[in-house]
Amino acid sequence: MMMAALAVQDRRFKMGKFKRHLIAKNEPVNPMTLADLDTQNQYILCWCNRCSHSADIDPTPLINRLGPLFPVPELGGRMRCTSCQSHDVTTCPSWSHETGQIALHG
Ligand SMILES: [Zn+2]
Repeated sequence: MMMAALAVQDRRFKMGKFKRHLIAKNEPVNPMTLADLDTQNQYILCWCNRCSHSADIDPTPLINRLGPLFPVPELGGRMRCTSCQSHDVTTCPSWSHETGQIALHG
């Protein structure tokens, strides 16, 4: 576990270079990455498009599996709804987790 944590730290250190590379390519979309969420202590909101089940998940274990530069919007393609088993899942930064305000209405 210790070695994995060190590897993530090392790769996160190179984020600036990666972002400059993206900007240089004039990417129309610059999606949030797992490392972005982790550094901001944000969770990932997963939303099932079939049954509307939603959940906030911790990005840290996903960084160990997919790498810190994995784009958050592409996570949905790798997820499966725990309620209806659908793969039609949308993922985005969970802004509500940070403040706790929006989640209270759920
Ligand atoms: Zn579902």
